[in-house]
Amino acid sequence: ILTNIYNFNAGPSALPKSVLLEAQESMFNYKNSGLSVMEMSHRSPLYEEIHFNSLNKLRSLLSVPDDFEILFLQGGASLQFAMIPMNFLTPGKQAAFVLSGSWSEKAWKEASRIGETYILASTKDEMYRRIPEVNFDSCKENTAYIHLTSNNTIFGTQWPSYPIKDPNIPVCMDASSDILSRSIDWNQMDLVYAGAQKNAGPSGITIVIIRKSLMETANSHIPTILSYNTHAKSDSLYHTPPTGSIFILGLVMKWIEEQGGVEAMRLHSKTKGSLLYQTIDESDGFYVGHATESSRSSMNVTFNLRNEQLEKQFLHEAKAKGFVGLNGHRSIGGCRASIYNAVPLSHVESLVEFMKNFQKTHV
Ligand code: PMP
Repeated sequence: ILTNIYNFNAGPSALPKSVLLEAQESMFNYKNSGLSVMEMSHRSPLYEEIHFNSLNKLRSLLSVPDDFEILFLQGGASLQFAMIPMNFLTPGKQAAFVLSGSWSEKAWKEASRIGETYILASTKDEMYRRIPEVNFDSCKENTAYIHLTSNNTIFGTQWPSYPIKDPNIPVCMDASSDILSRSIDWNQMDLVYAGAQKNAGPSGITIVIIRKSLMETANSHIPTILSYNTHAKSDSLYHTPPTGSIFILGLVMKWIEEQGGVEAMRLHSKTKGSLLYQTIDESDGFYVGHATESSRSSMNVTFNLRNEQLEKQFLHEAKAKGFVGLNGHRSIGGCRASIYNAVPLSHVESLVEFMKNFQKTHV
């Protein structure tokens, strides 16, 4: 195993080493069946066990109540940008969007191709440095649903808490970059979705957790494969699922359980985030955080140095020392350390040490 690599990628991102080792073994000869997980039929009892184990473990970790369905879909979080409006944005209704970053903008633009939308709140003109203040009471009467993004992967902001829900308006949330790092209050949410490739497993699988009563109201005049009901009716086995990814997701769920569950993940992220933000705050302006303090993400820590030249130098020296993925998203530049669940505290400590040394030699 390479030990001198510190993976701060934004996604796909670090997976627990123990998961990768277990996956390596099972991929070759799963439970002495002579088959790799990727070679077995998705209709076989051997695969069914894997499939339902992953679904059940996810349900238990996030305490998902029985009146919610958990679906394993494909197409990434990006397909959900289209699937949600196709299922719920019917003529005469409007979908309300809270714009808190590039991904929420993309979700809004996609929904606008399908039906009518409006912007409930936005911090775009503040370079998305903070989560907008929003009151769900200000929604229009014909609102089909409200769409939020829990953690803004590119700008490094995260909702500290959510507004209280209007019981008549469903809330749909993109939790791609912070799912399983904190608990979800299911009384306040109706549909939560996430691409797995940050906190939950490898790419190729999208988690959708949806309130059954909402699902029953879905438009049935859409292509079969894009209907949530299709996938719910067949336990996410309507068509061939990404079997290998679902298997590894199950291993990640087991790993989270062993670490102490979602609450342990929350505390772990808080510790890692605090270390980095403290380093930024105590750098006398050498490092400048992008996010306003009250909106800081515990998953993606975004910061700048005093000019682009110095940032380049920082990224160059970091790379030479084995730090991977510290460059900011290509749309905004700067630096970003993604510290998802599987990133060990020791790697964050090494990064902090590197940042302090870099500052000393470049003041
Ligand atoms: N939403 C958020 C918050 C994301 O971070 C990303 C990917 N980085 C996406 C959506 C898009 O996900 P995918 O590539 O799985 O479509």
